[in-house]
Amino acid sequence: MQCSLRNTISLALRSKAPAPIKTNAAILGALNGRNYSTTHEADLVVIGSGPGGYVAAIKAAQMGMKTVSVEKNATLGGTCLNVGCIPSKALLNNSHYYHMAHSGDLAARGINCGEVTLDLEKLMGQKTKAVTALTGGIAQLFKKNKVTQLTGFGSIVGPNEVQVQKDDGSVDTVQAKNIMIATGSEVTPFPGVEIDEEIIVSSTGALALKQVPKRMVVIGAGVIGLELGSVWSRLGSEVTAIEFMETIGGAGIDTEVSKTFQKTLVKQGLKFKLGTKVTGAQKSGGGVTVSVENVKSGDKEDLECDVLLVCVGRRPYTENLGLDKVGIVKDDKGRIPVNGVFQTVVPSVYAIGDCIHGPMLAHKAEDEGIVCVEGMNGGHVHIDYNCVPSVVYTHPEVAWVGKSEEDLKKEGVEYKVGKFPFLANSRAKTNNETDGFVKVLADKATDRVLGTHIIGPSAGELINEAVLAMEYGAASEDIARVCHAHPTCAEALREANVAAAFGKPINF
Ligand SMILES: Cc1cc2nc3c(=O)[nH]c(=O)nc-3n(C[C@H](O)[C@H](O)[C@H](O)COP(=O)(O)OP(=O)(O)OC[C@H]3O[C@@H](n4cnc5c(N)ncnc54)[C@H](O)[C@@H]3O)c2cc1C
Repeated sequence: MQCSLRNTISLALRSKAPAPIKTNAAILGALNGRNYSTTHEADLVVIGSGPGGYVAAIKAAQMGMKTVSVEKNATLGGTCLNVGCIPSKALLNNSHYYHMAHSGDLAARGINCGEVTLDLEKLMGQKTKAVTALTGGIAQLFKKNKVTQLTGFGSIVGPNEVQVQKDDGSVDTVQAKNIMIATGSEVTPFPGVEIDEEIIVSSTGALALKQVPKRMVVIGAGVIGLELGSVWSRLGSEVTAIEFMETIGGAGIDTEVSKTFQKTLVKQGLKFKLGTKVTGAQKSGGGVTVSVENVKSGDKEDLECDVLLVCVGRRPYTENLGLDKVGIVKDDKGRIPVNGVFQTVVPSVYAIGDCIHGPMLAHKAEDEGIVCVEGMNGGHVHIDYNCVPSVVYTHPEVAWVGKSEEDLKKEGVEYKVGKFPFLANSRAKTNNETDGFVKVLADKATDRVLGTHIIGPSAGELINEAVLAMEYGAASEDIARVCHAHPTCAEALREANVAAAFGKPINF
């Protein structure tokens, strides 16, 4: 009798709420208005819905795995879509348009706009619109691919069990054959400098400032610091970037490219203090006094600014994940150690993306998510990390893949260089965007392309051709012999390969 009553209740509840309510306790609990646990059964539960986690969840569902995605934030998409790649690129794009109009670039092209003013709220609104559309798009993709989405904090309680603490206080349990950790990363704090996201901001605060600061100091001239520094510089801030290293652009950038990059940013108004460390920051009179010290000379200086942007990197985020419950020990950088198929020491628990080794990039996380899932289904798992491209979305853009000249010298590899300036590229000339060059590094004996470095228009798009070529082990002559549409900036890439393969380009 009781059993059939429960079945009736269960059917009634299911017709109203599509969420899989499996336990009888949950049904009776729901009727009593109390929060009992719901248990889900799955082939895979993915914790984290950033580019690594959400792509993995969709791929798994497409491969026939019953998949659950757990995300603690109200919106899907992780750092990348909410406070990373997407909002930063929206601001970079629109601040570039503003700068073109404001700086007289458009007027020099015969386009007179009259008085150019900035509506920062609207500019931010466009960014928010893009973020909302894209994060909402993931929810749609989850529905389309039948991925079950749970909003709440996930923690691992056993090799095949994840508990999800929801905002309403209830706890769902997911029993899964496989668990994937895709919990990403968080801003690395700067010792002694407390971030309030208003005057002393991280990248997150810098994406949402309510007014253009008169002066901004950026700690760190890596990729994120340069992108966001460029945004605010274009919108009218006096931006000074402080960098401990002697070059800008972060790890992996070719030194020649880095130097050209610095010159073009200085031309645009950014100031740099390289070989300099920040020793402290004090809030004073509505602004911040930043104390810096030259690393070599020890000379000290105080810089005043209205906003201090701290951009010293990101660190893996694995807070309260329950790693200790299953015996996973993090490495010295807080990353989760994994083997070649992204398996942790617990065979049913995998990890991908920013929380493991390797560059913290959205496309790297995505690729790992996909091959990891393929591996679970018997597929071959391989990523050539030498073929993961890096892009700085400033203007001009900077992009590279493979080895830099410094890498090759260090490794004692004999190489040849093919270079081509955008000044000699017809499309760049037509568009009046001639800053920069393409540099191809190829093996001296075999001609195989070992690295490609681009600073110039659409570098972030052009680099993908070099990535494809390198993935397939192309020689510079292979690329040189491929027909490229004219007039395109991609012809500069071809010409640099012509130079590497035959000693000189045609058009320079
Ligand atoms: C300003 C900025 C600009 C960037 N620009 C670029 C760019 O142009 N190109 C690029 O390739 N990369 C860029 N990145 C880096 C990129 O955002 C990251 O490399 C990428 O998001 C990593 O993806 P992920 O899936 O590993 O983790 P994340 O995107 O960090 O996602 C992890 C998710 O897991 C969730 N989570 C964590 N713990 C739990 C838990 N216990 N339970 C439930 N959910 C949890 C988090 O809420 C988050 O949503 C940028 C980053 C920043 C900050």
